[in-house]
Amino acid sequence: MADCIFCKIASGEINSKVVYEDEDTLAFLDLNPQAPTHVLIIPRRHIDRLSTAADSDAELLGKLQLAAVKIAKRLNVESGFRLVTNNGKAAGQAVDHIHYHLLAGRKMLWPPG
Ligand code: 5GP
Ligand code: ZN
Repeated sequence: MADCIFCKIASGEINSKVVYEDEDTLAFLDLNPQAPTHVLIIPRRHIDRLSTAADSDAELLGKLQLAAVKIAKRLNVESGFRLVTNNGKAAGQAVDHIHYHLLAGRKMLWPPG
């Protein structure tokens, strides 16, 4: 999608520090980390947010979550990590390309802010 930062990261037009990739998924370090480990996991294909995903995206959404487990193992944070998606502006979504934040390496508070 034109003018989508994460589509540009997925295509390589914008550089990122990639920690995992496969044919459907890309994961890279967040530019402004909120924890010692802060990875963004995106589908290469543009979807605005979880609430705009279709039933036909079910497999892709599952792959994103399973990619998170692989990344957590790779980065040695498997024993404790948080996986979150901000859906919509009111929830803090700033980039309109669905992404999961994988956060780890510090004590996580609940409820989140
Ligand atoms: P959101 O607020 O939409 O859930 O999360 C967007 C995330 O993308 C933020 O944590 C922000 O730091 C990160 N981000 C925004 N632009 C870039 C970028 O160009 N490169 C990387 N690596 N992260 C970005
Ligand atoms: Zn996009």
